[in-house]
Amino acid sequence: MKKGYYGRFGGRFAPEVLMETLRLLEDAFEDIKEDPLFWDEFRGVLYSYSSRPTPLTFAENLTRHLGGAKIYIKREDLNHTGAHKINNVMGQGLLTKRMGKDRVVAETGAGQHGVATATMAAKMGFRCTIYMGEIDVRRQRPNVFWMEQLGAEVVPIRDGTRLLKDAINEAFRDWVTNMDNTHYVLGTACGPHPYPEMVSFFQSIIGEEAKEQILKIEGKLPDRIYACVGGGSNALGIFNAFMNDPVELIGVEAGGKGLDTEEHASRLISGDGSPGVAHGYISYFLQTPDGQMKNTHSIAAGLDYVGVSPIIAHLKEQNRIRVEVITDREAVDALRLTIKMEGLVPALESAHALAQAYKEAPSMPEDSSVIVNLSGRGDKDIFSIAEAMDDPGWKQYIISKAGEYESHILH
Ligand SMILES: *Cc1c(COP(=O)(O)O)cnc(C)c1O
Repeated sequence: MKKGYYGRFGGRFAPEVLMETLRLLEDAFEDIKEDPLFWDEFRGVLYSYSSRPTPLTFAENLTRHLGGAKIYIKREDLNHTGAHKINNVMGQGLLTKRMGKDRVVAETGAGQHGVATATMAAKMGFRCTIYMGEIDVRRQRPNVFWMEQLGAEVVPIRDGTRLLKDAINEAFRDWVTNMDNTHYVLGTACGPHPYPEMVSFFQSIIGEEAKEQILKIEGKLPDRIYACVGGGSNALGIFNAFMNDPVELIGVEAGGKGLDTEEHASRLISGDGSPGVAHGYISYFLQTPDGQMKNTHSIAAGLDYVGVSPIIAHLKEQNRIRVEVITDREAVDALRLTIKMEGLVPALESAHALAQAYKEAPSMPEDSSVIVNLSGRGDKDIFSIAEAMDDPGWKQYIISKAGEYESHILH
């Protein structure tokens, strides 16, 4: 297989000026990949800074309630900054140091990757610029607030749709002009080679731990593993360690308001996605026949992306993974059930993976087991969750807060 390609997907599509930088990044990555000392250093940082290893929790109440397979939950929600994203970001931070650079840039949509990158930059002493669509800046104020507190410069993008895809273009543009001292910290397993492989390599710590944990508890491999698929990094992170095992791997896309509407983010199985080139790589994109990127929708901001990892697209085409879709409504129902029965508050993204597992577990034998990757915690989603649950107390709180500010401004 051609380097950087996964079947007919992947590749490296970038302006000529960036090619040399991408090649140098690839060399640096190849070096650390082969270097056992690097993996020790990487693991050491995550163990001391981000509460790794994260536990594998047996969801005993849910298993009893649903019947069938034992449900285990991999607790990426317990990471520092609340999700799996920190794994990749700390890995790329160590790599940035090795390359002798002192500045990082990143794109962010909902702001989670921006916060993780700004956190890493604060810890490692890098200057940090985060590109974010103007609309996202406005609707994700809490994350913008934290990025700025962490010392990052947040640049609102006023071009195009003023969303994630425009922020990605701008981050690349910055990188082109500052290649000498700057590393671009891409947030998911997408983009030009070596990013898809590099990001999934850093995230593979999830599956390595999960495999050891389940073998210790159950004495055998799980039957199925579920993960939500935005760009694909948490899914590849838990799948990688099981790739050559007889374990069924299930990726769950965001069905939004349903596949019969335009408001979803299912690139792989809705029939609305098609292969194309964007953001530096070949994969499935939600695009019009003439290649314009479509608007996507999901209640989970992290799943609301037009493209998907070329590695995921290839695994799907090879039938190594199965892809399913969960709607906004189903995700919120799964979230509610998980909170009530297990006392866990999943991110809306992760709730998609849980929902699919809850659909399937009851018809599996009682001596079988499944693992769900709980990619992040739900605190960040309080605005969307309270709205979806139509919580009257929350609305009252927002109104009275707004009232307080208004009277400050007016008097
Ligand atoms: C960003 C995010 C995702 C989606 O990204 P992937 O690269 O597909 O993992 C999923 N869950 C959470 C909690 C996130 O923050």
